[in-house]
Amino acid sequence: IPVEDFDLVIFGGTGDLARRKILPGLFRRYLSGQMPDTSRIIGAARSDLDDAGYRDMVREAIAEFGGEEAKNTQELSAFIAQLHYVTVDAKGDGGWSELHEMIRFEAVNAFYFSVAPSLFGDLAERLHTYKIADKDSRVVVEKPFGRDLDTARELNATLAQHFDEKQIYRIDHYLGKETVQNLMAVRFGNILFEPLWNNHYVDHIEITVAETVGVGGRGAYYDKSGAMRDMVQNHLMQLLCLIAMEAPSVFDADAVRDEKLKVIRALQPVEPHHIVRGQYDRAGDEPSYREDAGNERSFTESFIAMRTEIANWRWAGVPFYLRTGKKLKARASEIVVVFKDLGHSIFPGDQERHRNILSIQLQPNEGMQLRVTIKEPGPGGMRLVDVPLDMTFAEALEGDNDTVDAYERLIMDVIRGNQTLFMRGDEVEAAWEWTDPIIQGWEARGDVPKLYDQGSAGPDDALLLMHREGRRWSQIK
Ligand code: NAD
Repeated sequence: IPVEDFDLVIFGGTGDLARRKILPGLFRRYLSGQMPDTSRIIGAARSDLDDAGYRDMVREAIAEFGGEEAKNTQELSAFIAQLHYVTVDAKGDGGWSELHEMIRFEAVNAFYFSVAPSLFGDLAERLHTYKIADKDSRVVVEKPFGRDLDTARELNATLAQHFDEKQIYRIDHYLGKETVQNLMAVRFGNILFEPLWNNHYVDHIEITVAETVGVGGRGAYYDKSGAMRDMVQNHLMQLLCLIAMEAPSVFDADAVRDEKLKVIRALQPVEPHHIVRGQYDRAGDEPSYREDAGNERSFTESFIAMRTEIANWRWAGVPFYLRTGKKLKARASEIVVVFKDLGHSIFPGDQERHRNILSIQLQPNEGMQLRVTIKEPGPGGMRLVDVPLDMTFAEALEGDNDTVDAYERLIMDVIRGNQTLFMRGDEVEAAWEWTDPIIQGWEARGDVPKLYDQGSAGPDDALLLMHREGRRWSQIK
């Protein structure tokens, strides 16, 4: 179903994110018939280009990053014809009157700020000075949304000078993943899980986002943030919220975000001995984190594992283990809900510990599995075995292989005016309120991250974090 007719302006339309994600994603939506023929995408950036030059650039970007679909040259040409370009200076006057002339005010107007956050204020102000944005316009902003509570508040205040919260779409692309939405469908669309989704039946919950790549060319940028700011404060905390939140009374943006906010506010402060920070070491010719970062004295973490709890009736006493890092042994994003032991086995001789485990995978493949205990087939008597009930979507949803990338889904949600999968300003601030004291603690103590081997599971202490409590990570261990 096509969305409403729109003009989407991408500030930073020549940048890395636009070329790798936003534009190839929009092309896929075009191919699926979701983008109306009359809609337009207007690249707006500093480079001195015209429409033809921009179209060539986007054609190349889609050829490089667009996958199989990019081979569809006829459709690609038709999509490219819907692109325009204007050279604008976020900090000056150049290009803004031209942009005003280009916009069709009768269509949905969205402005994607795919530029450094230091430019958000300049863009927001000029969109108003030049009467380009109005009360119905939407703005999309990219992470990082601040580097601490103060800077996040400043950014929120800057945007709030010109836009109402209902117009602001803060992207966290983890929320655009099919599995994340499915998590909500599974939790709130079935009677099976919800009665067990609490401290009576859940032993613990793990959230892992492991990468095999290092910080590479982004080293200098990454060194100013680290895993806590780059991954935990946003992506991991958002996943934690969706796993832990109460059922909203209705699936709408504010109801969902109210519930997520309550989870963040109920997060316990993390004890220093419940946090493990790491930096990857040199491995042969492969540079160490510090070499990648170009900072021999860096104390920034490329790995973090932590244990926290949520102080409310549902979750009191249930540990949530969060872990993310670079140059680890596998690329995997996974949420694992480990249910409690039965307490008593009626099967004589059954020594094994059987546990129901729900695994929700976000990367590399999206899917869900529920481990259940059954009788081992055959004549061997009542021997028990754990097997996965597989809910991998590509197989389950036969025929519909149109898996939508997170960015494209979220951009279409912007056009539809659906904020459910976007972070609200108060959520972002609450998340910083929780992370700030942790980071400040490291800074005050001069905490030095532990070195870990590339291709490992991170520092051994991260394994100990669970071993000490008689548990172990479900994977990457
Ligand atoms: P980039 O450096 O590749 O591109 C920056 C863009 O901003 C260019 O198009 C440039 O022309 C434009 N620009 C810079 N100064 C300008 C000015 N004064 N006036 C007008 N335009 C100006 O950056 P990027 O990697 O595409 O990232 C853009 C934003 O998205 C950043 O906030 C970044 O943190 C965020 N982000 C990027 C990624 C990624 O994978 N690249 C992922 C998540 C978030």
